[in-house]
Amino acid sequence: MTTTLQPKDNRDDPYTHADMSNQFWLTCMLTSWSDGRGVLPDYLGLEREQFMDLSAYFFSGKVFPERAPSGSALDYSRMLEKEDLITLLKHYSTADTPETTWMITIIVAGCLGSNHLWQDLGLWQRSHLSALLQYNFPELAEKNTHDMKWKKFLYKQLCEAEGLNLCRAPSCEVCLDYPQCFGTEE
Ligand code: SF4
Repeated sequence: MTTTLQPKDNRDDPYTHADMSNQFWLTCMLTSWSDGRGVLPDYLGLEREQFMDLSAYFFSGKVFPERAPSGSALDYSRMLEKEDLITLLKHYSTADTPETTWMITIIVAGCLGSNHLWQDLGLWQRSHLSALLQYNFPELAEKNTHDMKWKKFLYKQLCEAEGLNLCRAPSCEVCLDYPQCFGTEE
């Protein structure tokens, strides 16, 4: 039996950062995941034991599906950058806790999707992802001064960490790919 989650806030209310926490974002993600939306696979991309720990920690008494209702199964073999992404997020995380590890693992799973990261994660709007990243990785989020699309931004950080520049233009201002990196992410 599954349980419909009810976030503290009404879905239509304008959210404020102060209202938000990992529990809130996980509520959004689990609600979407339980409805078969988003790209997150079984256990949100976590190990089964981690998923059980997360469920007990944040949603005591709730029962979730054992498998992703969407049937999503991510192929990590095509994600050569997986460890680099984990390292990047760990580097900027403000805490070394199971909660942080869960969030990092879930975000990395979302990066394997082909839509905007907030959609792949099953968040309900882009601002949720911005707030989630700001909350868990504030220094990293603040580096996105030009509001780059979040998935593009994370991969750009990986390139910069490796000293790579895979961009076809010398600067964003003159780049034909600008709309793919910036602009609306709705
Ligand atoms: S807009 Fe062009 S130059 Fe800027 S990050 Fe994107 S691809 Fe690279």
